[in-house]
Amino acid sequence: MTTVCLTFDFDAVSLWISSFRQTSATPVSRGEYGANVGLDRVLGLLRDKGVKATFFVPAHTAASFPDQTGRIVAEGHEIGVHGYCHESPTGLEPAEEARLLDAAVARLQGVLGAGFQPAGYRSPAWDLSSNSVALLADRGFLYDSSMMADDFTPYRARIGDRVDEELFVPGTHSPLIEMPVAWELDDFPYFTFTNRPLFGGMHTPEHVYTCWKGEFDYCHQHVAEGVFTLTMHPQVIGRGPRIEMLSRLIDHMQARPDVTFRTLEAEARRQSLKLASPL
Ligand SMILES: [Zn+2]
Repeated sequence: MTTVCLTFDFDAVSLWISSFRQTSATPVSRGEYGANVGLDRVLGLLRDKGVKATFFVPAHTAASFPDQTGRIVAEGHEIGVHGYCHESPTGLEPAEEARLLDAAVARLQGVLGAGFQPAGYRSPAWDLSSNSVALLADRGFLYDSSMMADDFTPYRARIGDRVDEELFVPGTHSPLIEMPVAWELDDFPYFTFTNRPLFGGMHTPEHVYTCWKGEFDYCHQHVAEGVFTLTMHPQVIGRGPRIEMLSRLIDHMQARPDVTFRTLEAEARRQSLKLASPL
């Protein structure tokens, strides 16, 4: 059986403010496009296909676009934490990283209600500090989705790796389930053009369809109990021909035998029963 997890990082304007350090009108408008045009198309496609997905939402996005964020939940999708304003945890002091994580959850609760309890976290930079896994596990998060030590098989994230120029020594397993990601399965590098820093992007939807279909077909044919996780962004995948490509890919996957679509949270709960307990 293959599980497909469709995930969308709803970065909106925060990506341009934080990761690209751009607050001028045009970069900001690219974020608005995601919130006001791209998200609609994504939600419409998911509704048409009968698929529940996972959206990682920075606190900045939730507060800036509360109606759109509320619609994601109202349509039955999962929301996970994606930073306060899309900041990278690497390089943050432990106390500052903890403060921003707690502030992000509190601000999401301010928009979604005090009962909102996130199960998942995805680092905005797809990178973690040496404290991130312990911080997330201590706060009861079920899973992270930022690392790449496997492609289609989740695993337990570790605490206390030794990483230096002398040796790499893996640390101990934490309770946190890692739902791995891959740049090959992310719409951003394929499609997005930016000039600071330079991202080429601009591949055709047909090219990306070929890459993603090939990855899915390999997972389906060769990996027992594989989990195929795609990472997309409403401001990237939301353009018309790209949404049509994603529609075609979902049709292809839904037509294969033994394929189930789940949110990352639902799949991580299954994985937590399967993977050896670290305790
Ligand atoms: Zn992001």
